[in-house]
Amino acid sequence: EQSRVESTTDVLIIGAGPSGLMAAYWMARCGINARIIDKRETKIFVGHADGLRPRTLELFDSMGFQHRVLHEASESTEGPGHEGKLVRQALLDMTQADHSPYHNTRLSQGRIERFILDSIHECSDLRVERGIITESLEYDEKLAADANEYPITVKLRTVGPEDLHTPDSNKQSSQNQLTCEDLFPDDWEDLTQRENQKEKVETIRAKYLIGCDGAHSWTRRQLDISTEGSSTDHIWGVIDVIAISNFPDIRRVSVVTGTTGTILVIPRERGITRFYVPVQICEAGTSDRFDRSFITLKLIKSRVQEIIAPFTFDFEICDWWTVYQIGQRIATEITKGNRIFLAGDAVHTHSPKMGLGMNMSLQDGFNLGWKVALAAAGTVKPETLETYDLERHPLAKMLLEFDRHWVNLFLDIEPGEMDTKAESMAAMSAKFENFAHGWNVYYPASKIVSKSEDDGATKNAQHMVPGERIHPFKLRNQADGCPQWTTRLLKSDGRFRILVLAGDVRGPTQRQRIETFSEALGSESASGAPILDRYVGIPGRYESPIDVFTFHCAPWREVEFFDFPEILRPLNMSTGYAYDKIWSDDACIFDRYCDGTAYEKWGVDRALGKLVVIRPDQYIGWIGNMGDLEGMTQYFDGVLVRKLTVNGDPSVI
Ligand code: FAD
Repeated sequence: EQSRVESTTDVLIIGAGPSGLMAAYWMARCGINARIIDKRETKIFVGHADGLRPRTLELFDSMGFQHRVLHEASESTEGPGHEGKLVRQALLDMTQADHSPYHNTRLSQGRIERFILDSIHECSDLRVERGIITESLEYDEKLAADANEYPITVKLRTVGPEDLHTPDSNKQSSQNQLTCEDLFPDDWEDLTQRENQKEKVETIRAKYLIGCDGAHSWTRRQLDISTEGSSTDHIWGVIDVIAISNFPDIRRVSVVTGTTGTILVIPRERGITRFYVPVQICEAGTSDRFDRSFITLKLIKSRVQEIIAPFTFDFEICDWWTVYQIGQRIATEITKGNRIFLAGDAVHTHSPKMGLGMNMSLQDGFNLGWKVALAAAGTVKPETLETYDLERHPLAKMLLEFDRHWVNLFLDIEPGEMDTKAESMAAMSAKFENFAHGWNVYYPASKIVSKSEDDGATKNAQHMVPGERIHPFKLRNQADGCPQWTTRLLKSDGRFRILVLAGDVRGPTQRQRIETFSEALGSESASGAPILDRYVGIPGRYESPIDVFTFHCAPWREVEFFDFPEILRPLNMSTGYAYDKIWSDDACIFDRYCDGTAYEKWGVDRALGKLVVIRPDQYIGWIGNMGDLEGMTQYFDGVLVRKLTVNGDPSVI
C-alpha cells in the first residue's frame, strides 16, 4: 500500500541531468536544505553529450574535479594533419592556448554526471532521488512576497524498484546492440540505490523550484510557458564506435563532405569515435510522423562508408547510438516570480553538432545555483534572482542563432558547393568560436554587475571588465612558490571574493597604500561594522560571505609572506596562517604557463594595483581603485544582506 507524506524543502530541483546536478552542487556546497528528484531509474552511463568547452572546464577546476576529467577525457590539441584522397579544404583552429588553461575536450555525459555527483556527496547528504514521477505543480503568487513562505506545492509519486534497470536493459533502451565495456566501478552504486525504495505519494512545499527537466520539460508545461522555434525535416544518426578505418584524421575532429552528404567525426575517450550522420530528409512537414525504427545501426554504418569512401570504415563494437531530429526552440520565459526557474534544455534545444547543449546547460545551472542557494540561505537579497533571466536568456537566444547558421552548413551539400562550404565553416567557426568556448559572455549591468559610468574607475584594468569572467592565469604562491591557476584558487564555495591587486609592493608608497587599505578593511566606519563582519554569512559553512585574496606583482623572492598585513593572511588556530591567500604574478622557470604576465594581460597598472570583486561564479562584479572601500561597500550593500543587531536595527552593528 502506498504511504502518503507531506514535507517542506527550501529548494526543489526537478531533473538530475547536467543543469540539475550543477544547481544541486551549489545547494550542497552552501549547505542548503534541498531535494533533487529524477524520473529516471539511474543516471546516464553511456552516450549523449560528450563535448566540453574550455569555460566549462574552468568551472570544473573551481569545483575541484577538473583533474578527473582530464585523466579520462580525449583532448583536442590541433586541427587535422595529413592529406588523404578526400581533399582537406580548411583547418578549423579549435584552440587558443592563450585564452584558457583548457581546450575542447570530450568525455561522455555519464562521467561528467559522476564527477558532479561525487562532488555533491563530498560536502553534503544531498542525494538524487530517482524513480519519482511528478504529478502536479501549484504556485501561490500571494505567498511569494514573503521570503520565508513556501509558495510552491509539488505532488510526487515514487515508484517501486521492481522495474529497476540493469546496465544491459539501460543500454537496450538507448537502442544499443553491442557494448564495448561494462560500467565504470564507481557507477555501480547507482544501480542498487533504489533497491529498498517503497512506493509513496508525497506533497512537497518549497520556497524555490528549479525545473531542469530537459527538452520536454514538465515544469515548463505546468507553468504554461510556450517555446518559440521549429523542427527541421532532417533526421540524423549518432554512433559511438570503435572505428576500424584507414581514414587518416579518424582521431581528429573532422568535418567530412563526401558526394552524398557531410558527417562529423569526433574522437573520444577509450578509443571511441563518434560520428554524426545524416540519414534521412523527410518531405516538408512530415517528420513528426517519421518512423524511427526504420533507421538501423547498419543503415548508419553504410551512410558513413558511402561518405568517407575511398577510405574504409567498419566496426564491431558500438558503445551507444541514437537517432535525432534537428530543431531549434527557446522558452519564452525562464522564471516565474523569481521563485520558479527553468534551466538547460528546458529553456533551449538545438542541434548537438556544435557540442553546446550540455555546456550551456551546465553553465545555466551554475549561474542559477549560487543565486538560489544564497537567497535560500538569507545571504543575498532576493532581487539577486532577477539577474538569472537578465544574464542567461539572451545567451540562449545567441546559442540558437549560432546553431541555425552552423547546422545549415551540414545540410543540402551539392558537390559543386564543397569548396565554399569548407570556407564558410572555417569563417563561421572563427566568428562564433569565443562564444562557443564560453569566453564571450558579457553580463549586463545589474545589482551584481556594477558597470560604472565613470571610465576613470576602470581605465587601468582594460581587460578586467565587470560582467565578464576573470581571465585565468597562473600565479605563484607567496609562501612556497608553487604555481597555481586562478581558476583553482577561486573555489566555487559560495563566497564573493575581494581581489587586492596590490601591485609592486617593494616600494614604500605602494606598501603604505596596502597598509592603509587593510586597516580600513578591518575597521568600523560610519556605514557600519568592518566589511568582512557586516553581512549574513553562509550558515553552517562560512561566517562571512566574503573572502580576500591578494595578488601582487613584485618578484616572489623579493617580498615575504609576513610583509602583508594580517587581515590579508589571517591566522586560524586550527588551520594555521592562510598561506593560500597571498600570490605573486612572477615567472616560474619550471612551469611555462606561469610567466609573470597576468598584470599585463589583465591590464592592471603595476604601480597602482586595483581592487576587484569576484562573484561566487568568478564573474567580475565590481572594480575600483586601490583604497575605494566606499565604492566596494556600496556594491556589497546592494547584494548582500546585513546582519541584524540585537535591537533589530540593521544599520548599526
Ligand atoms: P537533460 O540532460 O535532458 O536532463 C533532464 C533530466 O530531467 C533527465 O534526467 C530526465 O530524466 C529528468 N526529467 C525529465 N522530466 C522529469 C520529470 N517530470 N520529473 C523528474 N525528472 C524528470 N551537448 C554538449 O554540450 N556537447 C555535446 O557534445 C553534446 N552532444 C550531444 C549528443 C547527442 C546525441 C545528444 C542527444 C545531445 C547532445 N548534447 C550535447 C546536448 C546535451 O545532452 C543536452 O543539452 C544536456 O543533456 C541538457 O542537460 P539538462 O540537464 O538541461 O537536460
